[in-house]
Amino acid sequence: MGKKNEKRMDHITWDEYFMGVAILSGMRSKDPNSQVGACIVSQDNKILSMGYNGFPIGCSDDEFPWAREGDPLDTKYLYVTHSELNAILNYRGGSLEGAKLYVSLFPCNECAKAIIQAGIKTIIYAEDKYAQTPSVVASKRMLDAAGVRYYKYSRTDREICFRV
Ligand SMILES: [Zn+2]
Repeated sequence: MGKKNEKRMDHITWDEYFMGVAILSGMRSKDPNSQVGACIVSQDNKILSMGYNGFPIGCSDDEFPWAREGDPLDTKYLYVTHSELNAILNYRGGSLEGAKLYVSLFPCNECAKAIIQAGIKTIIYAEDKYAQTPSVVASKRMLDAAGVRYYKYSRTDREICFRV
Protein backbone atom coordinates (compact mmCIF):
# COMPACT_ATOMS: atom_id res chain seq x y z
CA MET A 1 0.00 0.00 0.00
CA GLY A 2 2.62 2.52 1.06
CA LYS A 3 4.54 1.55 -2.09
CA LYS A 4 2.57 4.03 -4.13
CA ASN A 5 4.64 6.88 -2.77
CA GLU A 6 8.00 5.29 -3.52
CA LYS A 7 9.91 6.05 -6.65
CA ARG A 8 10.32 3.56 -9.45
CA MET A 9 13.55 1.59 -9.00
CA ASP A 10 13.84 -0.10 -12.40
CA HIS A 11 14.49 3.07 -14.41
CA ILE A 12 17.38 2.94 -16.89
CA THR A 13 20.80 4.24 -15.85
CA TRP A 14 22.48 7.31 -17.36
CA ASP A 15 24.85 5.02 -19.26
CA GLU A 16 21.98 2.96 -20.66
CA TYR A 17 20.12 6.13 -21.58
CA PHE A 18 22.96 7.83 -23.44
CA MET A 19 24.34 4.67 -25.05
CA GLY A 20 20.79 3.97 -26.17
CA VAL A 21 20.65 7.41 -27.80
CA ALA A 22 24.06 6.81 -29.44
CA ILE A 23 22.97 3.45 -30.85
CA LEU A 24 19.65 4.90 -31.99
CA SER A 25 21.57 7.66 -33.82
CA GLY A 26 23.67 5.01 -35.56
CA MET A 27 20.46 3.52 -36.95
CA ARG A 28 20.15 6.66 -39.11
CA SER A 29 23.31 5.76 -41.05
CA LYS A 30 22.97 4.83 -44.73
CA ASP A 31 26.24 2.87 -44.65
CA PRO A 32 25.36 -0.72 -45.62
CA ASN A 33 28.26 -2.20 -43.62
CA SER A 34 28.80 -0.08 -40.55
CA GLN A 35 26.40 1.93 -38.43
CA VAL A 36 28.05 3.90 -35.67
CA GLY A 37 26.34 6.45 -33.46
CA ALA A 38 27.60 9.02 -30.97
CA CYS A 39 26.02 11.15 -28.26
CA ILE A 40 27.80 13.98 -26.46
CA VAL A 41 26.67 14.73 -22.93
CA SER A 42 27.54 17.51 -20.50
CA GLN A 43 29.05 16.83 -17.10
CA ASP A 44 25.59 17.25 -15.59
CA ASN A 45 24.00 14.73 -17.94
CA LYS A 46 22.36 16.95 -20.53
CA ILE A 47 22.51 15.80 -24.16
CA LEU A 48 24.50 18.32 -26.20
CA SER A 49 24.82 16.67 -29.59
CA MET A 50 24.45 13.48 -31.60
CA GLY A 51 25.91 12.07 -34.78
CA TYR A 52 26.24 9.05 -37.03
CA ASN A 53 28.56 8.06 -39.86
CA GLY A 54 27.69 9.56 -43.23
CA PHE A 55 28.76 11.83 -46.05
CA PRO A 56 29.02 15.60 -45.56
CA ILE A 57 26.04 17.82 -46.33
CA GLY A 58 25.49 18.10 -50.08
CA CYS A 59 27.33 14.84 -50.83
CA SER A 60 24.48 12.59 -51.92
CA ASP A 61 24.06 9.17 -50.30
CA ASP A 62 23.04 7.94 -53.75
CA GLU A 63 25.97 9.39 -55.69
CA PHE A 64 28.95 8.90 -53.39
CA PRO A 65 30.34 5.37 -53.03
CA TRP A 66 29.71 3.02 -50.11
CA ALA A 67 32.23 0.41 -51.31
CA ARG A 68 35.04 -0.75 -49.02
CA GLU A 69 37.37 -2.05 -51.73
CA GLY A 70 38.69 -0.95 -55.10
CA ASP A 71 40.06 2.38 -56.34
CA PRO A 72 40.33 4.60 -53.24
CA LEU A 73 38.30 7.28 -55.00
CA ASP A 74 35.49 4.75 -55.38
CA THR A 75 35.45 3.69 -51.73
CA LYS A 76 33.68 5.40 -48.84
CA TYR A 77 36.81 6.05 -46.80
CA LEU A 78 37.80 9.33 -48.41
CA TYR A 79 34.30 10.77 -47.99
CA VAL A 80 32.62 9.48 -44.84
CA THR A 81 32.52 11.58 -41.68
CA HIS A 82 32.54 9.43 -38.56
CA SER A 83 29.80 9.70 -35.96
CA GLU A 84 32.06 11.25 -33.30
CA LEU A 85 33.27 14.01 -35.62
CA ASN A 86 29.72 14.64 -36.82
CA ALA A 87 28.53 14.93 -33.22
CA ILE A 88 31.33 17.42 -32.46
CA LEU A 89 30.63 19.45 -35.61
CA ASN A 90 26.84 19.32 -35.11
CA TYR A 91 27.21 21.08 -31.77
CA ARG A 92 26.47 24.78 -32.15
CA GLY A 93 26.33 25.69 -28.50
CA GLY A 94 29.91 26.75 -27.83
CA SER A 95 32.41 24.73 -25.83
CA LEU A 96 32.44 20.97 -25.31
CA GLU A 97 35.11 21.31 -22.61
CA GLY A 98 34.72 18.55 -20.02
CA ALA A 99 31.93 16.77 -21.92
CA LYS A 100 31.43 13.01 -22.18
CA LEU A 101 31.13 11.10 -25.45
CA TYR A 102 29.04 7.94 -25.78
CA VAL A 103 29.88 6.01 -28.94
CA SER A 104 28.98 2.54 -30.18
CA LEU A 105 32.50 1.84 -31.52
CA PHE A 106 35.88 2.92 -30.13
CA PRO A 107 37.01 6.14 -31.89
CA CYS A 108 39.63 5.97 -34.66
CA ASN A 109 42.79 8.10 -34.56
CA GLU A 110 41.26 10.91 -36.62
CA CYS A 111 38.26 11.19 -34.30
CA ALA A 112 40.56 10.96 -31.28
CA LYS A 113 42.31 14.13 -32.48
CA ALA A 114 38.99 15.96 -32.77
CA ILE A 115 37.81 14.63 -29.37
CA ILE A 116 40.99 15.84 -27.67
CA GLN A 117 40.93 19.23 -29.38
CA ALA A 118 37.24 19.71 -28.52
CA GLY A 119 38.04 19.26 -24.82
CA ILE A 120 36.00 16.08 -24.35
CA LYS A 121 37.36 14.33 -21.29
CA THR A 122 35.53 10.98 -21.09
CA ILE A 123 34.62 8.35 -23.69
CA ILE A 124 32.17 5.53 -23.05
CA TYR A 125 32.27 2.98 -25.88
CA ALA A 126 30.23 -0.15 -26.55
CA GLU A 127 32.55 -2.09 -28.89
CA ASP A 128 36.26 -2.12 -29.60
CA LYS A 129 36.47 -4.61 -32.44
CA TYR A 130 39.32 -2.82 -34.22
CA ALA A 131 41.51 -2.63 -31.10
CA GLN A 132 44.43 -4.30 -32.90
CA THR A 133 44.51 -1.89 -35.85
CA PRO A 134 47.15 0.89 -36.03
CA SER A 135 44.31 3.44 -36.10
CA VAL A 136 42.90 2.43 -32.72
CA VAL A 137 46.33 1.81 -31.17
CA ALA A 138 47.32 5.35 -32.22
CA SER A 139 43.98 6.66 -30.96
CA LYS A 140 44.58 5.25 -27.45
CA ARG A 141 48.14 6.53 -27.45
CA MET A 142 46.90 10.06 -28.06
CA LEU A 143 43.93 9.80 -25.66
CA ASP A 144 46.25 8.50 -22.91
CA ALA A 145 48.76 11.30 -23.51
CA ALA A 146 45.97 13.90 -23.45
CA GLY A 147 44.39 12.51 -20.27
CA VAL A 148 41.09 11.51 -21.89
CA ARG A 149 39.51 8.76 -19.83
CA TYR A 150 37.70 5.91 -21.59
CA TYR A 151 35.78 2.90 -20.39
CA LYS A 152 33.67 0.17 -21.90
CA TYR A 153 29.94 0.39 -21.52
CA SER A 154 28.77 -2.49 -19.35
CA ARG A 155 25.78 -4.04 -20.98
CA THR A 156 22.84 -4.88 -18.80
CA ASP A 157 20.29 -7.61 -19.38
CA ARG A 158 17.56 -5.06 -19.57
CA GLU A 159 15.56 -5.25 -22.75
CA ILE A 160 15.09 -1.71 -24.06
CA CYS A 161 12.07 -1.63 -26.30
CA PHE A 162 11.40 1.24 -28.69
CA ARG A 163 7.97 0.00 -29.70
CA VAL A 164 5.19 2.31 -28.62
ZN1 LIG B 1 36.66 8.06 -36.51
